[in-house]
Amino acid sequence: MDKLAVVAIGGNSLTRPGQRGTIPEQFENTRATSAVIADMIARGHEVVLTHGNGPQVGNILLRAEMASSVLPPLPLDTCGADSQGGIGYMLQQVLGTELRRRAIEKDVVTVLTQVVVDPNDPAFDEPSKPIGPFYSEEDVKRRRDEQGWAVMEDASRGWRRVVPSPMPVRIVEVGAIRALLSAGCVVIGVGGGGIPVVESDGGLRGVEAVIDKDHASRLLANQIGAGLFVISTDVPQVALHYGTDRETAIDEMTVEEAERYHREGHFPPGSMGPKVLAGIDFIRNGGGTVIITNPGSLGRALDGETGTRIIRERE
Ligand code: ADP
Ligand code: MG
Repeated sequence: MDKLAVVAIGGNSLTRPGQRGTIPEQFENTRATSAVIADMIARGHEVVLTHGNGPQVGNILLRAEMASSVLPPLPLDTCGADSQGGIGYMLQQVLGTELRRRAIEKDVVTVLTQVVVDPNDPAFDEPSKPIGPFYSEEDVKRRRDEQGWAVMEDASRGWRRVVPSPMPVRIVEVGAIRALLSAGCVVIGVGGGGIPVVESDGGLRGVEAVIDKDHASRLLANQIGAGLFVISTDVPQVALHYGTDRETAIDEMTVEEAERYHREGHFPPGSMGPKVLAGIDFIRNGGGTVIITNPGSLGRALDGETGTRIIRERE
């Protein structure tokens, strides 16, 4: 069994489409996923949990903006840190309760995590990750001119600010995460892909960027020597020809098959693409198995009954 597992939970574990995203709603959604993670721990896994933060950071940005006549602005790295704290608190409380209900004596601890990126990453020349609220064209172009934002029209719903999405290079707090794991804690780390920082004058400095949470989770999984990397999202399985009448669920694919399907265009950027690429990288860097599924199917996926597995090669 791959005892040490990194489990990356997607946006749907915290907020659901159609909900307002109130804090009680987020706690209720978190409870469902936490029960599944607690079951996994009850089966003997050691777990490091990572999570997305898109809607939460969007709300923090909107709040800061609506308060801009009375309060100073918040840089994106600070928004990311705030969201790691808020989401980490929620997971600590809710997962902690689920563990106690199973008579498991483990502390759940959030590590505010900084992730170093390369200032020469080509992503800095091509901001691509939409963040925050939607704006009218007039509004967004004023902000572009006054605040230097990069902006993009988002699928007919309006205009948004876009920021660079560089690849993660180094996880600053990985030693602390290892130490907490050795002490028997369930650790929550690299929330929202981590707080993006660059090395500067012998120290670190936050940058206006967003690191993909699947790629950051992958790096963490390899750096702590996890055997299993679980990506929990809102589909039970990865599919070929997704969303068409030729859609076919994938039970298992080797790294080579996954690379071929990716080249053939089955996994779009911004959704399934980074998950499959992160899965490939995990195995190429010494990891064991990858499972992509949804929270409701995770138990059965660990038993090999559903989900999509990425494996090194077939026996
Ligand atoms: P998360 O918040 O978990 O990161 P994303 O929305 O980024 O979730 O990615 C998951 C989504 O990817 C699924 O809801 C599905 O709509 C989409 N998707 C795109 N291509 C595929 C595919 N080939 N197989 C399964 N899902 C796919
Ligand atoms: Mg995503």
